[in-house]
Amino acid sequence: MRKFKTESKKLLDLMINSIYTNREIFLRELISNASDAEDKLYFKSLTDKSIKLKKDDLVIRVSFDEDARTVTVSDSGIGMTADELEKNLGVIAHSDSLEFKQAQAAAEESADDGKGKGKKKPAASSVDIIGQFGVGFYSAFMVASKVRVVTKAYGADTAYAWESDGVEGYTITEAEKEGHGTDVILTIKENEEDENYDTYLTEPGLKQLIRRYSNYVRYPVQMECMHQRKIEPEEGADDTSDPQWETYYETETINSMVPIWKRRKQDVTDEEYNEFYKSQFHDFADPVRTISVHAEGALSYDVLMFIPGRAPFDLYSKDYQKGLELYSSNVLIMDKCEELLPDHYNFVRGVVDSQDLTLNISRETLQHNSQLRAIAKKVESKITSELTKMRDNDREAYEQFFENFGRGLKFGIYTSYGAHAAELAPLLLFYSAKQEKMITLDEYLEAAEEGQEAIYYAAGEEVERLSKMPMVTSVTGRGYDVLLCTQDVDEFCLQTMMNYNDKQLLNVAGGDLGLETEADKEAAEAATEANKDLFEAMANALGDKVVKVAVSARLTDAPAAITAQGPVSLEMEKIMSQMPDASGIKSERVLELNASHPVFEVLQKAQEAGDADKVASYTNLLYDQALLVEGLPVDDPVAFSQAICALMK
Ligand code: ADP
Repeated sequence: MRKFKTESKKLLDLMINSIYTNREIFLRELISNASDAEDKLYFKSLTDKSIKLKKDDLVIRVSFDEDARTVTVSDSGIGMTADELEKNLGVIAHSDSLEFKQAQAAAEESADDGKGKGKKKPAASSVDIIGQFGVGFYSAFMVASKVRVVTKAYGADTAYAWESDGVEGYTITEAEKEGHGTDVILTIKENEEDENYDTYLTEPGLKQLIRRYSNYVRYPVQMECMHQRKIEPEEGADDTSDPQWETYYETETINSMVPIWKRRKQDVTDEEYNEFYKSQFHDFADPVRTISVHAEGALSYDVLMFIPGRAPFDLYSKDYQKGLELYSSNVLIMDKCEELLPDHYNFVRGVVDSQDLTLNISRETLQHNSQLRAIAKKVESKITSELTKMRDNDREAYEQFFENFGRGLKFGIYTSYGAHAAELAPLLLFYSAKQEKMITLDEYLEAAEEGQEAIYYAAGEEVERLSKMPMVTSVTGRGYDVLLCTQDVDEFCLQTMMNYNDKQLLNVAGGDLGLETEADKEAAEAATEANKDLFEAMANALGDKVVKVAVSARLTDAPAAITAQGPVSLEMEKIMSQMPDASGIKSERVLELNASHPVFEVLQKAQEAGDADKVASYTNLLYDQALLVEGLPVDDPVAFSQAICALMK
């Protein structure tokens, strides 16, 4: 028995117990190695004319034996000599693939005649060697108590077997094997309390893993699959008897091999894309858009992305995980690579495949993030341009999209403190009070009269109700459009933006809108001054509910309205109070009165007559009804109802 080197032992232990979080990827690793070995033989055959390969020569076979508890992965690739076995499997973290790739690169460089790296790569560098680090093979020990590797190098006469229990060491002995290539035979562990290893000893279990992780490996991954057929009754037999069945086996190719993302968009039908999307991402609805990107050059990659037709139920929950599937040379490396998607596009599903990504030892975290960032940047700009196109050319679909995912775009602006506003704001839609449909901010500005200096919006629960609010009608009454915002994030988003195309975004329920004429304002100030005593009495009656009572320069029909001065609007206060960690942030409320409303006269008279009770109770009534109009709860509904009854008596 040869012992593993100390550092190898440590690594092996680390590997088996921690690096790989899900055990089932062992099959992916072994199939990747098999695919690499076939690649190597294939590329050797390109220069060595003595190697004659037939099309069917390069296949990968997966089989299992339930009784012996073995799973075998066989390839007809380049195989290993005894030396190579020792070197490759005796020392962890030594990877021949890496050396091979480096040798290839060096060879190319010299062949390149110093012309530097041309855009078109020489054929040899398209050798897609998946594994770049020498740990993949050892993942077998996550599911196996013993691993036996029987291998025969191409052109050699003798085969060798490497065997290990993954603990202390390994043995290498001569063995029998027909053709070139490698068989990796795993003796699967017995079931444990929290791990059912038996699934690897079933046809469906293995098939599922192959499809999940190795579907796009270039070589056919085949299994002998069990089938049943009816035995036709013999001539003259009594055909009322039960039909007889027999079992037979047939070789099936389990993986689909050709990666759909490598194909040009014009060569793939919508149906194919839709089917791929639905099976890959477990959705029952077709995607609304398919985006494919092919980049070649220093960093080559293929991207295939989908904008789903509906929002997954957990999109806005904490558990939702964004990310694109990451492949390196057709082999799945990561299910959800978060780094590839910005939060505001978290709904996008898809695949990124790049042979140029350098992967670290676990293949689950990536070493050279700069490459990933470059891809992520492209991914983001592609999504933005696709959405822009959809907005301009297929408005109906875009509105549906926005209903599904628009909230995320708005959050993107808010949570980035406006950093993403330039990209995302043009994609937003809001309900226009004037046009009575969803419009973009650009459309709002296009429809605005020359000289309009702001974009007005109002926030509340429903469009219907908002459109009737005094603060809204006072603006629409002047001929300006108001965007009616009904989503919790709207106001936070618009406040973060502050401006759009140099036009201020103004909440109609906020302070000074700049709409009132100087004359209006002066009149309001004069009226406030003239009724100083009344307002003082009213402010006293309301206590700390308001910071101010004043004459409004903008109310036309309603007797009174509540507005907020300062950054926190009434709607924001409402939303924040519903948050789990409600911070108790309050808006600074102002009770604005319409001085030309008959009710105002009633108040003035009561004040003149020195009827302090009446002033106080009417003030509270006005305040409460203004709250109701705003869609806010009345502080004390019982007192409110009693006040109304008193009025009616
Ligand atoms: P990686 O595949 O990341 O290089 P592994 O630990 O999986 O690392 O494998 C180590 C080395 O063993 C590989 O680089 C390769 O040279 C060799 N090897 C593994 N499996 C096979 C195989 N099926 N056929 C030929 N060589 C193999």
